[in-house]
Amino acid sequence: RAKELGGRRVEVFAAQMHADVVRRLELAADLQRALIDQQFAIEYQPVVDLATSRVTAVEALVRWWRGSVFVPPEQFLGPAEDTGLIVPLGEWILREACREVAAWRAESWDIGLSLNLSARQITAPRFVETVEEALAESGLPASALTLEVIEEMLVEDAEETIKRLSELRALGVRLAIDDFGTGYASLAFLRQLPVDMIKIDPSFVSGLGKDDTLTLLTRTIVRLGHDLGLIVVAEGIERPEQLELLKQMGCTRGQGFLVARPMAARGVDSLMRTSLTV
Ligand code: C2E
Ligand code: MG
Ligand code: MG
Ligand code: MG
Repeated sequence: RAKELGGRRVEVFAAQMHADVVRRLELAADLQRALIDQQFAIEYQPVVDLATSRVTAVEALVRWWRGSVFVPPEQFLGPAEDTGLIVPLGEWILREACREVAAWRAESWDIGLSLNLSARQITAPRFVETVEEALAESGLPASALTLEVIEEMLVEDAEETIKRLSELRALGVRLAIDDFGTGYASLAFLRQLPVDMIKIDPSFVSGLGKDDTLTLLTRTIVRLGHDLGLIVVAEGIERPEQLELLKQMGCTRGQGFLVARPMAARGVDSLMRTSLTV
């Protein structure tokens, strides 16, 4: 009897596993098709100077509508990385975003572009050349491009990753550490890479004014960043109180729903028009 029950449990488990595998294969196949059918889009979230509200840059964020269902990047980036699809997808985002930001700059709007990278993209053959091509093609100056990486990327293939990022840095491209403060490698990271910017993770910003430890940690990161001569960006600003505290701490740049949500290129167009006339 017990054996029978156990057997049934194994069967249920196997069915569950089978369903997971099927779902993952379907997702991988759909991702492949989505790239061919041009189902991906880019939204841009403004990064602003906290004192003046001037837009200093936009961060490109990939969007996927799988039919009529929106799939958040966190759900498809892993599978895209596993299947290698992140390489052509990332290249498309790179070229498209460089082109769009170069066009805004051509309207004499002095903004930069921040781009998220995944590990597999950086170590793919010809990554550095691809970035150089995207810059040359679009006319975007290297100094206007910031590449965002997270700490985990230096754990695997660390040597190759650092080498390539350093090559890009030598071209004049800026480097940022995204989600700063969440990985234990934070400080070691700063020593290994010629970094220009850190982006404080929203998990710190969310506790501002509510949690003493998180408030203290945020203050410490802002000070550390500035002492090291880095640009410090606070991410995930949602409440006015957070914005006030960040300004008091001397944090100069920020990003978050309170400041501006990610928006399609058309939204950035109108933002540009209002920015340029004030
Ligand atoms: P990230 O680079 O840290 O991007 C910030 C994320 O926080 C974005 O989510 C943005 O929409 C969201 N966000 C911005 N302000 C607020 C706020 O005030 N409150 C809250 N709750 N969220 C806010 P999104 O677009 O879902 O992207 C998630 C992550 O996926 C990104 O985190 C990044 O790691 C990755 N990602 C997005 N686009 C790309 C891409 O083109 N390539 C690669 N490799 N990764 C990407
Ligand atoms: Mg980012
Ligand atoms: Mg982040
Ligand atoms: Mg993130």
